[in-house]
Amino acid sequence: MPNDLADDLLRYIDAAPTPWHAVAETTRRLEAAGFCRLDEREKWTLKAGDRVYVVRAGTSVAAFQLGTEPVDRTGFRLVGAHTDSPNLRLKPNAAYAKAGFQQLAVEVYGGVLWYTWLDRDLSLAGRVVVATPDGGTRTHLVDFGRTAIARVPSLAIHLNRSVNTEGLKLNPQEHLAPVWALDGEGNRAGVRAEVAKQLARTGVKVEVEDVLAYDLCLYDVQPGARSGLVGEFIQSARLDNLASCHAGLTALLEKRDRRSTVGIVLYDHEEVGSRSAQGAASPFLRDCLERITLAHSDGAGDAFHRAIQASFLISADMAHGIHPNYAEKHEPRHQPVLGAGPVIKSNVNQSYATDAESMAFFVSLCRACDVQPQHFVVRTDLPCGSTIGPITAGELGIRTIDVGNPMLGMHSIREMAAAADVEKMIAVLRRFFA
Ligand SMILES: [Zn+2]
Repeated sequence: MPNDLADDLLRYIDAAPTPWHAVAETTRRLEAAGFCRLDEREKWTLKAGDRVYVVRAGTSVAAFQLGTEPVDRTGFRLVGAHTDSPNLRLKPNAAYAKAGFQQLAVEVYGGVLWYTWLDRDLSLAGRVVVATPDGGTRTHLVDFGRTAIARVPSLAIHLNRSVNTEGLKLNPQEHLAPVWALDGEGNRAGVRAEVAKQLARTGVKVEVEDVLAYDLCLYDVQPGARSGLVGEFIQSARLDNLASCHAGLTALLEKRDRRSTVGIVLYDHEEVGSRSAQGAASPFLRDCLERITLAHSDGAGDAFHRAIQASFLISADMAHGIHPNYAEKHEPRHQPVLGAGPVIKSNVNQSYATDAESMAFFVSLCRACDVQPQHFVVRTDLPCGSTIGPITAGELGIRTIDVGNPMLGMHSIREMAAAADVEKMIAVLRRFFA
């Protein structure tokens, strides 16, 4: 089954093992399409038709194409998603020796499905901050690449006889620490020394004592792949939510004149509650929209408020498709199927921002591109997940809908979705931006 967009999505995710790399790959694609970077510390001078982007803290990015009409007349058309995914991250003093091994102390970031991290081939990536000779610091992205350097080994069944019938119980402090070497003279240099060596391999010379700090994540070295009898599935890490970042980005990159100002905002920290300097609960998007309104409206005092009330946000985050082995976990009349198109998520308690008017708007977008939307509502006896949708809506007062493509195994180290849905969601978002 040929599906260039699904293959392009897998390449995007492979290039983005961490939120820092997701933003780097996103801005690489933006720049290739003529978007220019704006610095939040400088004055912004903007005009109709400009394509610009802003990065905050290295892990959140917003990009906009300014419309031919001022924003106080047209409002903003925005797609929001998140750059972070649940994973294991190194503690500051990570390396230690135990039982003949060198191990890494990790923290659990977000709602990791722990057992899926056992017996996988893992590598490390993230960012490091190093001291420079002039007394300052410099940040480098680092990626140990697709060679397995770490592993969280499972316990043999002979030492845990009841695991299959009673379930696997893991203590994250004790049982999720990866091994990355046998303990021995040559293997005790520690994480900072290995980071310096890895930077040297990419041509960056750094003394070990100049590595001041790091943010390092473990990731699965197995690249994303197509699977199924005719390649109808995609399986990869981080489909939640790099698939939605990729959909919004790909729709935005399309070159065409637009009357309205359109954009994407890809936030970090959704998986841990969005409360940070660059998360959805931060002023990041408001700051961008206010500054664009100042430069691209009639300049009246209420221009920003008029622009926001004329705006619409599609919050795109992956949805739970029905799992054939656990069909009873789904609401009987709301069972999104993989491959059958984008899912509209509803929750009257505002875990999702969807309401009848925003739903109707999205349904008509789908109709206009011959896509049939599906619906998700959680079972009434189960708690509901949430997204950046209600948080952004609450922060800005912007009309919002929550949607996403259906998938299985959310928060597994290797998730699964349908190749056909990639194109459908991008078609709807392109229509939204057109
Ligand atoms: Zn998500």
